[in-house]
Amino acid sequence: MIEFEAPKPIAQQSFALKTVAENMMRPFSRYFDENEHEIPWDYINFMQMAMRATGAGSLAPRESKKEGEEPRKDRPPIGYQSLAFMLETLAWGDVGIYLVTPGGGLGAAAVEATGNPEQKQKFLARFKEEKPTFAAMAMTESQAGSDTSAIRTTAVLDQATREWVLNGEKIFVTAGHKALCESAGFVVVWATIDPHAGRAGMRPFVVEAGTPGVQVTKLEHKMGIRASDTASIVLQDCRVPFDNILGSPEIEAVSTTGFKGAMATFDATRPLVAATGIGVARASLDLVKEMLAQQGVTIRYGLPRQKLTSIERDVIDMEVMLQSAWLLVIKAVWMADNRKPNPLEASMCKLRAGDVVTKITQKAVEIMGPLGYSREFLLEKWFRDAKITDIYEGTGQINRLIVARNVLGYSGRELR
Ligand SMILES: Cc1cc2nc3c(=O)[nH]c(=O)nc-3n(C[C@H](O)[C@H](O)[C@H](O)COP(=O)(O)OP(=O)(O)OC[C@H]3O[C@@H](n4cnc5c(N)ncnc54)[C@H](O)[C@@H]3O)c2cc1C
Repeated sequence: MIEFEAPKPIAQQSFALKTVAENMMRPFSRYFDENEHEIPWDYINFMQMAMRATGAGSLAPRESKKEGEEPRKDRPPIGYQSLAFMLETLAWGDVGIYLVTPGGGLGAAAVEATGNPEQKQKFLARFKEEKPTFAAMAMTESQAGSDTSAIRTTAVLDQATREWVLNGEKIFVTAGHKALCESAGFVVVWATIDPHAGRAGMRPFVVEAGTPGVQVTKLEHKMGIRASDTASIVLQDCRVPFDNILGSPEIEAVSTTGFKGAMATFDATRPLVAATGIGVARASLDLVKEMLAQQGVTIRYGLPRQKLTSIERDVIDMEVMLQSAWLLVIKAVWMADNRKPNPLEASMCKLRAGDVVTKITQKAVEIMGPLGYSREFLLEKWFRDAKITDIYEGTGQINRLIVARNVLGYSGRELR
């Protein structure tokens, strides 16, 4: 059976989150856009309290299941679906502010995807504490973005102390500053244990706030999502305990488990990034329709296309783009919830959402003309906020490559 209606718990949650989006985010959107690097503590503290009260604790999916455990038959798993709805609504409120929601973010997703049960327990418990805590994931380096095999940050095992010694520099780390400087959080740092092994040498390491040798050296000034910090991080003889290597403590000489872990993280998070893009697109479309209605223009949905005005056609096309991208997201998160491998669907929905949010926000500015361009309204801000959907966690081009490989049956080596 195909079910298009949101399950009841999700519908209830969406109602509450819309109130948060309207009251705790929208009124402050412009302020945090214009005051980059100021931190929306009121929103953060509220969300921390609300998530603790509801038992959510973090933005990790609720059914965070044990290894090998089958989904429950009496209650369909909806953890990722629920997150997708939640993030879409928060991003509709303000995607930059959403990105500072306390909880694990991409860092916790990496622990979820690659950690063993003890590590999940140890590293994720902090998000249920009273104080807001953040986590981040640091993969990108100046020479290694799309091409993760070029990572130069090294992790060397000190046999005497049984500690890993990390050296290198990471750039563009979302929430890196909040994870390391504003809370007792952590950053999952991807480093190589064998610089000659390419992707096979990649491993994720948890670097906790307060660890000597890790330092935030820069905060980016950005075009959009300006409420969210994007940090550069330097690791200089940074020592972490042996057990902070995520996954199996056995270090196979050459294996692709590290890279697979990175991909598993993205399979889980790309649909969620797509959901945030769709939230921004929906915000733009809603506002355009509202502004048009104020000017006496309503969209006559039932008419044949040739009888519609050009603006009506534009708005209807925007709705089609939005809905089609959302359905791809729903499919990808449904697969994640039901433990079906979803690399194709995760990349498909991410690249489609990246395209759609860029086009819709641009069209929204275009339709409203000077009002779209003016800072009096948020349309110009959403236009700037949109583009990141197509950059982080794999650019549109990289996700197209992944889709092509999956559809055509090529490996990464054969098609790049
Ligand atoms: C605001 C922001 C937040 C970020 N947050 C994080 C984070 O939290 N953690 C993290 O690790 N990284 C983060 N990133 C980094 C982001 O993931 C990378 O910027 C992205 O993966 C692209 O890598 P790059 O910058 O090295 O660009 P490049 O890889 O140099 O790409 C440049 C251009 O070339 C294209 N290209 C590259 N290779 C190919 C190919 N094989 N075929 C076709 N086209 C190609 C790309 O699509 C892109 O258009 C963030 C970036 C930004 C801007």
